[in-house]
Amino acid sequence: MGKIRVKGLKKNYGTQQVLKGIDLEVQEGEVVCMIGPSGSGKSTFLRCINRLEEITAGQVIVDDRDLNDPKTDINKARENIGMVFQHFNLFPHFNVLKNIMFAPMELGKMKEGEARSTALRLLDRVGLSDKAEAFPSQLSGGQKQRVAIARALAMNPDVMLFDEPTSALDPEMVGEVLGVMKDLAREGMTMVIVTHEMGFAREVADRVIFMDGGYIVEEGTPEEVFGNPKNERTINFLEKVL
Ligand code: ADP
Ligand code: MG
Repeated sequence: MGKIRVKGLKKNYGTQQVLKGIDLEVQEGEVVCMIGPSGSGKSTFLRCINRLEEITAGQVIVDDRDLNDPKTDINKARENIGMVFQHFNLFPHFNVLKNIMFAPMELGKMKEGEARSTALRLLDRVGLSDKAEAFPSQLSGGQKQRVAIARALAMNPDVMLFDEPTSALDPEMVGEVLGVMKDLAREGMTMVIVTHEMGFAREVADRVIFMDGGYIVEEGTPEEVFGNPKNERTINFLEKVL
């Protein structure tokens, strides 16, 4: 049974149909990279996977919880789904440690001592043990994004969603963030990653999905999608970005 099951998902903004019927099943431990042109609906799709968006039709099931069933405790469901955005969204007035401790404490998942030790362990894991007391404004973009990943992991999610996590970074900082994501993939985290890093997708993804115009136009292993794309729109897109 898939960890994430999306069936017939449609999403409209007003009269504009942005997602036109998406079916996708992601297995536990699978790493899915989603590529596609700007405006194709990638971010909207990711936001539907933790119900940051109300959907127009279809079903999104994560860990056997139907996210759009009114009986589902959406806050409980979301605790299992970590999300990392392009623009970090750290709390500017909290130091790094507090940024990571905040959600588990606020949501009553951990007491202060446990939240602190969890935060310190995660900082070590993303290579930022020395930045616990720093404020976001004192960090580079790559460091901020690694803190954002640690913060998402603090809730001990079993699914992680990434929306272009390296797009706002200077080139020299992309590698350190992708490195943390590679470690997570290796450890078996279930991940859906929207990315423009084709090298990363090729190396780390179990499956690559090409989205265009609100549809999944093509999917397959990295070898299939990058090495032998079948759809004309995929071919055109890859010609531009590779
Ligand atoms: P991508 O992430 O692939 O660039 P998005 O999911 O951000 O695509 O956007 C898909 C389409 O939906 C675009 O046409 C965008 O303008 C529109 N859209 C996205 N978010 C909103 C919103 N909150 N309100 C209205 N339209 C939106
Ligand atoms: Mg986007």
